[in-house]
Amino acid sequence: MKTYIVGNWKMNLTVGESSIYLQKLLKRIKPAKGLEIVVAPSIIALQPLRMQLDKIKSKVKLAVQNFYQKEYGAYTGEVSVAQLHGLADYAIIGHSERRYIFGETNKDLRQKVAAAVRNNITPILCIGETENEKNFGETVDVIKDQLNGGLSEIDVEDMKKVIIAYEPVWAISSNKGARLAAPDDVAESIKVIRNELAAIYGKEIAEEIPILYGGSVNPNNAGAYLTIPGVNGLLIGGSSLISDHFVDIIETAKRVQG
Ligand code: PEP
Repeated sequence: MKTYIVGNWKMNLTVGESSIYLQKLLKRIKPAKGLEIVVAPSIIALQPLRMQLDKIKSKVKLAVQNFYQKEYGAYTGEVSVAQLHGLADYAIIGHSERRYIFGETNKDLRQKVAAAVRNNITPILCIGETENEKNFGETVDVIKDQLNGGLSEIDVEDMKKVIIAYEPVWAISSNKGARLAAPDDVAESIKVIRNELAAIYGKEIAEEIPILYGGSVNPNNAGAYLTIPGVNGLLIGGSSLISDHFVDIIETAKRVQG
């Protein structure tokens, strides 16, 4: 299975800054077999970055951070996944900031996952417990609920096109005081995810579904998270905005791959 290194730039960088960042990144990274490098810029930067990448036939991929689940229509201010066809390769869906700041529900998210698959954009469904849920011992229940809730419109065939990202909410943004998740605890949650996917889709399919880890990943801890059994890549926020750090993490992923 491929290793995925996904940088989520969130609401940072202007179009110009995004383009300069991408140029820097492209100069420093060499394509490596089995390694998928993805950046998720602001939606307004997708088209210029797409053109930059296409011009040099780069293998670096683009993700959209959010979209609206209907294809077309009277939804002022929204962008549909159908409109993103040809611009984004991946779509981050259900990031905790979308769930908890913008109130997105499992119903919204399952529609988004289905819309992405319908439009040939690979969904990266984010799941993970909050600090309170962790303290109340609800991590396993939350993981199962968010998996079932987000995937209920996806059948076995479509599931081959879906990626899951486990991001404990309390471990996101250590620069704002979040704690780092212990790799052993992450390993436990990854097992729960894999087992639940097996319960829904069967063991064989479950083994093929990439599961990423996200939560304050940086160049110092990337190796530890990447070597957790069952982890197939990383979703990176803060550190992906610093090109040196993102490149270091990519280099670590290459070393771990061997
Ligand atoms: C994220 O928001 O998906 C994330 C993992 O952020 P950070 O790496 O900054 O914790």
